[in-house]
Amino acid sequence: MALGTDDPEAGQRYWTEWIAAHTWGLGPDVGEGGGQSHPILNPATGEALCSIRHADGADVERAVAQGKAASGDWAARTPRSRAELVRAVADVLERHREELAWLDTLDAGLPLWMMRKDADTGVERMRMFADLGYALTGQTIPASAGNLHLTFPEPFGVVARIIPFNHPFMFAASKVAAPLVAGNTVVLKPSELTPLSALRMAELVEGVLPDGVLSVVHGGADVGDALVRHREIRRIAFTGSHQVGRAIQRSAADVGVKHVSLELGGKNAMIVFPDADVDAALTAAVKGMNFAFAGQSCGSTSRVFVHESLLAEFTERYVAAVNAVRQGMPWSPGVQIGPMVSAAQQDRAHGFVERAVAAGAHLLTGGGTPAGGGGFFVTPTVFDGVSAEMEIANEEVFGPVVALFGFSTEDEVVGAANAVEYGLTASVWTRDLSLAHRMSRRLEAGYVWVNDTSTHFPGVPFGGVKMSGIGREESADELLSYTEIKAVNLVLS
Ligand code: NAD
Repeated sequence: MALGTDDPEAGQRYWTEWIAAHTWGLGPDVGEGGGQSHPILNPATGEALCSIRHADGADVERAVAQGKAASGDWAARTPRSRAELVRAVADVLERHREELAWLDTLDAGLPLWMMRKDADTGVERMRMFADLGYALTGQTIPASAGNLHLTFPEPFGVVARIIPFNHPFMFAASKVAAPLVAGNTVVLKPSELTPLSALRMAELVEGVLPDGVLSVVHGGADVGDALVRHREIRRIAFTGSHQVGRAIQRSAADVGVKHVSLELGGKNAMIVFPDADVDAALTAAVKGMNFAFAGQSCGSTSRVFVHESLLAEFTERYVAAVNAVRQGMPWSPGVQIGPMVSAAQQDRAHGFVERAVAAGAHLLTGGGTPAGGGGFFVTPTVFDGVSAEMEIANEEVFGPVVALFGFSTEDEVVGAANAVEYGLTASVWTRDLSLAHRMSRRLEAGYVWVNDTSTHFPGVPFGGVKMSGIGREESADELLSYTEIKAVNLVLS
């Protein structure tokens, strides 16, 4: 909201002017190099908010060199001392919650109420990793008589963190916390589409962390690749598409042996058994599609399997619920879905819809663009009549597009749910504990809900199997993934 007003339109004007007037650097540790400037668009209007220079090779070198220079002192601190500074960063960011939420709303097109929640989640996860600092322990191993065998979790040095556009601030904040607490310095690269809140974060925390401990570099694939290939970076953590994840694995392998963790996409199944609480499942099927993110969420339940005994009623009520999702300007109160992040993502989603229709899928609602708009809007879309070999049954749209399927037996639905190459989340709806347990074990997914969708629980490891990724985050597993074990054998006897 604009300072001193409750009027969202005034807020939008205030923060749009604020962004245009702000001097956007590349983060305090990076300075001013020679990369080209690119416009940052407001996806709700298609208009440019500002123009920001991308980092070039020299900027990347400088950020990594400063991270390297700072890494010795940072690693030598106790976990408690690092955690205290990460908590201090969280405190500063919390004080700027409103501003950071507006930046995300304006450059990502995501609803303001949701970006306030995202800002809170980012800060909360920073504090969670600060709390987890005491998990950085080693072991003693009784491997031989009279000697001492111990392990130490050691940081890598400079870590590269490459993030996507769909939770700009939440990812910028939460995904630097674990490597920092573990004793690494970090170079963060936000999406070139949504860099404002990450760049602002770097400005806000200047002076809170020692110089060089956290840098932000703004740019696209070339900047990401330069980080991946940098000789000083041995640990790369990536969140994004499987296509880029695999490109990163290839680039990393070209230049050395590096630790790469990947949080990738999903084509996630929600399965509704005949004994489910249907009202709750319907609400969850809408929540699970993350319409507030225009479906641009890796965990979205974009395949909904409903037992044939419920299918007709469920379909009718689900379509009505999706039609009631309110689309509009992301800063307007009560808006539940804004635009997609870019014209390219909008075209991509429309392409999926057109190809699904051409392949014979039945479009129940949506598939177009709401009337009267500039901006990159796609109306919430539901298909049925989708067969297993169709693209819409297998590929992640990363847009507000859902496919409904019927099923009759447990084996049939397990086979269908597991038939895709992804394996991020799954959601099972039943009151039968044995069935719930069996399904949880049989589904090929890294994160399973029984009678819920979309919720992430703090400390519970999140990540995918198959083409959805490598590694687990949001938990002690993530913290420890930023360390390597050193074993020391003190031969005393
Ligand atoms: P993307 O893969 O296109 O880009 C992600 C980031 O990688 C951006 O910062 C981009 O600039 C950078 N990049 C692009 N090419 C690169 C290269 N060759 N080397 C290094 N970096 C490069 O993804 P996106 O479109 O921003 O985000 C959407 C994808 O992210 C979806 O597939 C979604 O499912 C996935 N995602 C996964 C999770 C998860 O936790 N599993 C969370 C959010 C998003």
